[in-house]
Amino acid sequence: MAEMMPQSALVPDSDYIIIGGTGDLALRKIFPALFWRFLDGQVTSSFRLIAAARQEISKKDFADRLRPFCEEALYHADTKDTDFELFLKLVHLVKLDILSGEGADRLATLVHEKAKADRPCIFYLAVAPSLFGPSCQLLKSAGVVLPQSRLVVEKPLGHDYASAEAIGTELQAVFDEKQIYRIDHYLGKETVQNLMALRFANVIFESQWNNAAIDHVQITVAETVGVGQRASYYDDSGAIRDMVQNHILQLVCLVAMEPPSHFDADQVRDEKLRVLRALRTPDLGDVMRGQYQDYEAELGKSSNTETYVALKLAVNNWRWAGVPFYVRTGKKLATRASEIVITFKSKPHDIFANGRSSADQDDLPNRLIIRLQPAEGVKLQLISKEPGPGGMRLFPAELNLSFDDTFGGRLPDAYERLLMDTARGNQTLFMRHDEVLAAWAFIDPILRDTAERPPALYKAGTFGPEDNLSGQGPSFWIDPQSDFRSEQPDSHS
Ligand code: NAD
Repeated sequence: MAEMMPQSALVPDSDYIIIGGTGDLALRKIFPALFWRFLDGQVTSSFRLIAAARQEISKKDFADRLRPFCEEALYHADTKDTDFELFLKLVHLVKLDILSGEGADRLATLVHEKAKADRPCIFYLAVAPSLFGPSCQLLKSAGVVLPQSRLVVEKPLGHDYASAEAIGTELQAVFDEKQIYRIDHYLGKETVQNLMALRFANVIFESQWNNAAIDHVQITVAETVGVGQRASYYDDSGAIRDMVQNHILQLVCLVAMEPPSHFDADQVRDEKLRVLRALRTPDLGDVMRGQYQDYEAELGKSSNTETYVALKLAVNNWRWAGVPFYVRTGKKLATRASEIVITFKSKPHDIFANGRSSADQDDLPNRLIIRLQPAEGVKLQLISKEPGPGGMRLFPAELNLSFDDTFGGRLPDAYERLLMDTARGNQTLFMRHDEVLAAWAFIDPILRDTAERPPALYKAGTFGPEDNLSGQGPSFWIDPQSDFRSEQPDSHS
């Protein structure tokens, strides 16, 4: 297949002001993403990238700290030796203390030097959420909150409903909702966006996308790493807050939402909100919490925090009544992979069933598998006849749309897409305040009901506790990266 290189949309000249500009998020994600966009020509020499940091730092030290995170871009075949130096010319370093306000005057001067109505001025708060409120107030008192200003924040947006509401109030006290960009980086992933293309740009799926044709949906977000250095931070959070409240519920929304009438930020978000509001609080038996065996040793104390969770969700509306959404996520699991698997209903009658039990027939449903990472792609599992004269032997074959094969080259990281969307003023892939609150409204009762229950222990390198959801054994789950061909086809003549 001919390679299709991704086209880049035009982005207006902009100022990015990264507050917490020398922190981990800034150095590991934000600046490397901006460097890739610079290499691609979307970030031009007219941009300014202002790193506002609490400590004074020289350009050379900043470059030395950033360089290791840009290695992939630096060693890319098309990157020239001078590119990193040229990129660094766009970077301005400002000393800024959010709490004392020291440095705010200098930042204001810098911002006003280029302030123009058509030049977006994007403040990215790469600091702890406890500093979101003080940061907004400081920007306001420094006089840099202009009509063209935008604000970017990301998780954790609260610990529960009440704290999420408080954060929203702090942001909205200074910025209009239309200026606020709440990142859930899952929404910037190419395959996640492709889910919308798949559903709403093709007719063949939409007519099947309901409880008449779909048996159930599974979503797995599996990590192989443990909590490591982040143990004490993680212990206050756990898998439900860290992964389900945001990323996984966003995936559920994209699978379950009704088609909006336009691909427009508020219409897409209205439809996602309806899904969140249609979620029914699961029974206790439909929540399985797990903890990997070494977790307490790593943390240095006993803990009820879950490093794994599986949930059976019900979306209470006409389209999805009776279709369970099984979701699971965990650390120290067998593979690192994120996948959505749509399993269609069994055929009403099997003309090949001669001599087979009905249970065998159920083994061969159609499945649509959307792989978010690694090796992004979409597969449609169909039942086919094994070639050869050995009778009518059926096996699951697949139509495989591998993004790598189709588009070649590298797929941009989610942050690249999302950062450019902030400059383009496109909020479609960002969460609105009411969405964040609706997600917490669903999560809060689960947290409350399970807090005192000790999680089931599981071995590292497995797919979670053996006794899984509502008596469903581990074999019920469709593990990512399974080779579909290895599922035992039934042979019969
Ligand atoms: P970090 O500790 O590495 O960086 C925080 C930065 O805030 C530091 O550079 C620190 O100097 C600065 N800071 C603290 N107090 C300040 C003050 N008074 N004035 C000015 N600057 C101040 O943390 P991080 O990993 O970059 O995370 C920042 C936030 O982003 C956290 O809420 C985190 O949960 C979230 N986050 C991080 C990542 C990631 O990949 N690191 C991913 C998603 C979300």
